[in-house]
Amino acid sequence: MSKVKVYATLGSGMPLIPSEVNRRRLNPHDVQIEINYCGVCHSDLHTARNEWGNTIYPCVPGHEIVGRVSAIGTHVTRFKVGDIAGVGCMVDSCGLCFSCKEGEEQYCEGGFTFTYNGPMFGTGDNTYGGYAQNIIVKESFVLHIRHDEKDLAGVAPLLCAGITTYSPLRYWGAGPGKKVGIVGLGGLGHMGIKLAHALGAYVVLFTTSVNKTQDGKRLGADEVVISHDHQQMAAQVNSFDLIINTVAVPHDLNQFLSLLTRNGTMTLVGVPATPHPTFKTYDLIRNRRQLAGSLIGGIRETQEMLDFCAEHSIASEIELIPINYINEAYERMLKSDVRYRFVIDMSSL
Ligand code: NAP
Ligand code: ZN
Repeated sequence: MSKVKVYATLGSGMPLIPSEVNRRRLNPHDVQIEINYCGVCHSDLHTARNEWGNTIYPCVPGHEIVGRVSAIGTHVTRFKVGDIAGVGCMVDSCGLCFSCKEGEEQYCEGGFTFTYNGPMFGTGDNTYGGYAQNIIVKESFVLHIRHDEKDLAGVAPLLCAGITTYSPLRYWGAGPGKKVGIVGLGGLGHMGIKLAHALGAYVVLFTTSVNKTQDGKRLGADEVVISHDHQQMAAQVNSFDLIINTVAVPHDLNQFLSLLTRNGTMTLVGVPATPHPTFKTYDLIRNRRQLAGSLIGGIRETQEMLDFCAEHSIASEIELIPINYINEAYERMLKSDVRYRFVIDMSSL
């Protein structure tokens, strides 16, 4: 065990403060990474404040981690000291169930181990995330980063916001000839736009923030629709093959379901603390529409997404912050005032 510096919260009403936690010793299959950058996901806020009712304290959030390998276990073969590496939302899974065997560890039947707010397989210990000096992770859950080193801060958010939008875009076949809607221009939403555009789809952003219109287009949206403008919404009825809804609060789903074509799908990726108001069943039935969900993505697909982004020069658009700004960043995130992902410069720890 070794002590590492972190930012942690000790209770749901408490701010994040400097602290220390123990990391396990390096096992033969482990990689130790000194963290350069960690993105700030809305899930960090939900968890730090126990909005999902499952937080174990102390809580050290952070699952968009990029850094440099500083030590490797004796059996590690895919990484060497000095490599740039990434860690996303998972650090372990059972490896035996059908989902794990298919490389969809996020749907592990035994439940995968979250990068923070564990518990770890075997020991049951809580896991601590990336608002930290370093992290120790099993080699099979560590990703290779092939972007230019100068872009690393913008790569961090790909590890969650990137894969969470890439996976449903791929699963539901976003590409040329498909019309894709992205609801909400925050961390996930802005990656959704960039990725859907790069995959060749026709992309429409739905936003509640009129002042994000220009940015939506610059990021790759072909059209921007203000979701509380009934006329603009009516013009989009029955036209979407896929809508990815990233909104983190309960809201009316009917306004988006009616925009789907026959057989169209709306995939929810936002996880509000309380349920959405119920939707109109007949809006689904009458056009064989589907309401779906999607959780991050498997390790293999995360590597595919990272390589796709490196090849297409895609990274997140970020606001780099020192760690002592984190509590203010959370408040701004709640006001939809993120352009478009906060990333912590971990040298400030
Ligand atoms: P975020 O940066 O805060 O973005 C959410 C966006 O939703 C806001 O920027 C805003 O965009 C829009 N919004 C906010 N309030 C709204 C309201 N009342 N009505 C309609 N739209 C509203 O959050 P994020 O980091 O992208 O995360 C989004 C959600 O996804 C969170 O619940 C998070 O926990 C979840 N998540 C899920 C997965 C998964 O695997 N499924 C992975 C990561 C995160 P506009 O200003 O454009 O309206
Ligand atoms: Zn996340």
